[in-house]
Amino acid sequence: MTYDTLKSRVRGSVITQFDPDYATSRDALTWNGRKPISSVCIIVRAQDARDVQEAVRFAAEYGLNVSARGGGHQFSGIAARADMVIDLAALDRMRIDASSRTAILEPAVTNVRLATALERKGLGFPVGHCGDVTVSGYLLGGGIGWNSNAWGVACFSVVSVDVVLADGQLVTATENDHPDIFWAARGAGPEFFGIVVSYQIRLYDAPKAATSLVRVYGAQSMAKVSEWAESAIARAPESVEFTVKIGASPIGPVMAAIANVFVSDARQAAALGADLWRDAPDGALEVVGPMQTPISSLYGMTGPSAPRGSRYGVDCVWSNVGFAESLAMMLRAVELAPSPNSFALCALRSNARPSPDTAAFSREGRVFSTIYGIWEDEAQDDANLEWLRLSIDRCQPFATGTYVGESDLDRPGQSLPRLSPDALARLAQLTARHDPSGLFSPTLPTRDLSAA
Ligand SMILES: Cc1cc2nc3c(=O)[nH]c(=O)nc-3n(C[C@H](O)[C@H](O)[C@H](O)COP(=O)(O)OP(=O)(O)OC[C@H]3O[C@@H](n4cnc5c(N)ncnc54)[C@H](O)[C@@H]3O)c2cc1C
Repeated sequence: MTYDTLKSRVRGSVITQFDPDYATSRDALTWNGRKPISSVCIIVRAQDARDVQEAVRFAAEYGLNVSARGGGHQFSGIAARADMVIDLAALDRMRIDASSRTAILEPAVTNVRLATALERKGLGFPVGHCGDVTVSGYLLGGGIGWNSNAWGVACFSVVSVDVVLADGQLVTATENDHPDIFWAARGAGPEFFGIVVSYQIRLYDAPKAATSLVRVYGAQSMAKVSEWAESAIARAPESVEFTVKIGASPIGPVMAAIANVFVSDARQAAALGADLWRDAPDGALEVVGPMQTPISSLYGMTGPSAPRGSRYGVDCVWSNVGFAESLAMMLRAVELAPSPNSFALCALRSNARPSPDTAAFSREGRVFSTIYGIWEDEAQDDANLEWLRLSIDRCQPFATGTYVGESDLDRPGQSLPRLSPDALARLAQLTARHDPSGLFSPTLPTRDLSAA
């Protein structure tokens, strides 16, 4: 294999195992401080879509498998495990067209950049909950973001994708052109059989009077909080997003009940907030808000919870049980966590608009629970991962699936289903057609049991 051939074909840079900065460059592919075991031998830092095409053709010629890397935020470091990793970090252009209410995004555009630019134009989009995550893998795996209850899971607002296929061809896929590719690019995540070099998305009016309110409760209030939340969210419109964050504290696990209201009229925001909280349980340890929270400002609140450089083990479950069951599981998980930095989120989405069945994204539930194991010391890896997996096992009896973006893809053996059985079967057929030699076959240690 001649690396010089590849270097002469691309405008961007090529790093191989023989370069002095190889190990640093390989580790930098993964956002998590806990790096995956990686077999990557070539990193191509693409400058543009043409570089992606050249790199894919080279990989096909030399029998290498390939993975795209958006921001490397998938906690299992799944983007960094192929023979060749095509790093899309330099593809970060964004064009917003306010008149057609659409935007074209290259993969490395971050949530915070998109949210801030849109707000300046009075527009919005269900951007993810953390600012520096890139749209690349976020949109490909689904995208559960701010105001997704009303605007939908983000991939359903993608209107076209430019994709480099296994033969190096660049195609634009929409509902009408290459509809199968378009279907798969909205939810297949790491199992997608191509590389998306550009997304076109549909935009919405910015919720100009977005507000938030937080009430913090001790664990002993769990039953009252869940009972109140069930009835308050049952009567709330889809513009209300409700999540409980469970974290450690000196008095044991505490629950921060967080309601974000995404509307444009200040009086409506106040009325919705008042109705929501009118019969909230007494005994809150702390109340914060109501406060004005444009979407871009929410990143100042979520960012500190997920510091870069820490070691992470993360997994999540969809379920259709009552909120109390999920909340109890998350409280127990945080109570037993080896690290005090770990936390869990439990989102009650009973007021969310159901997703259409027009995309590979096909697993959801009324409750979405995520456990974030966060620690600093490598010697603690085993203890934290064992705790994470045991905590998820306790949810198995009522889990309906997992979400690939925040799934523990390192977990050996079987995992919760990421797609519906129909979607999984269709994706397998399309992969066989568009990537017959398995160029983009991801190294997923866990088997999706959707079809079982
Ligand atoms: C702090 C933090 C907060 C998060 N919050 C949310 C949240 O609120 N909502 C949510 O839905 N998710 C959330 N996530 C999960 C995140 O959206 C997904 O893990 C997503 O995949 C990250 O995008 P990425 O571009 O960094 O993906 P990467 O880690 O780079 O890649 C993930 C997988 O997708 C593939 N891939 C990535 N880009 C492309 C492309 N352009 N073409 C083909 N394949 C590609 C890679 O090969 C890899 O298999 C969060 C993650 C972190 C670290």
